[in-house]
Amino acid sequence: MGKVWFVGAGPGDAELITVKGQRLLREAGAIIYAGSLVSKACTLWASEDCDIADSKGMTLDEITGWLIEKAGKHETVIRLQTGDPSLYGALIEMLQPLDAAGIESSVVPGVSSAFASMAAASESMTLPEVTQTVILTRVEGRTPMPDGESLRELAQHKTTLCLFLSITLLHKVRDELLAAGWHDDDAILVVQKASWPDEEKIVRGTIGNIREKCRAEKIASQAMIVVSPTLGARHWKTLKKSKLYDADFTHRFRKAEK
Ligand code: SAH
Repeated sequence: MGKVWFVGAGPGDAELITVKGQRLLREAGAIIYAGSLVSKACTLWASEDCDIADSKGMTLDEITGWLIEKAGKHETVIRLQTGDPSLYGALIEMLQPLDAAGIESSVVPGVSSAFASMAAASESMTLPEVTQTVILTRVEGRTPMPDGESLRELAQHKTTLCLFLSITLLHKVRDELLAAGWHDDDAILVVQKASWPDEEKIVRGTIGNIREKCRAEKIASQAMIVVSPTLGARHWKTLKKSKLYDADFTHRFRKAEK
């Protein structure tokens, strides 16, 4: 029996897969990838005789059935996931049938689109004395949010918020943010297809105008929404510096100058 690897393909740019993920793709006898999101990484690194399938249009049972069947024939079988497999990736739903079938499996992390979006815009999720916390979430769509996790509640913390799977719900994002105490002129960032060569779009706006701006840019899918008190900090005149590099701050690796 072979082993099934759940590999994070990264956000889109084929070079953003991990070295380990790339090695596994080279060694794999069979790969199933998620829709059009990660096809390039497959074709770039997979061997010529690799059995490659697209899971677009397949049900979860069909995908796990495919993985189980291929694990009977190949030593290395890969489920290639977008970004990191632990975020909105149906990982547990796929692991359980593999466990039940007695098939060994492991997960290889990937660069999430949340990080790729911040990189695209040269923004920081954390800033000293501004926010030291990041919330990865979504607004309620067809998938209900558990108690206590509405955007209205989470946004009250005024931390960095990365909203997945929410780009078609910008009206709701605005309503919830305003109810949580944010303002229409607060900064918001939308990145579509972060890291995709030639396809990435970065839209900066305010909570009040972002919907209009995204409509004008025809952005309706594959986009990350970031709301954060750190947005635009690159242009701030006054900035609290990180203690780690502060000349007056002693830590494990350096003694303060004064
Ligand atoms: N596991 C993935 C997320 C899968 S959910 C990760 O870690 O990134 C799919 C959602 O992720 C999309 O609706 C979108 O909000 C976001 N997403 C995925 N790829 C993206 C990209 N390249 N740029 C911006 N957002 C992306």
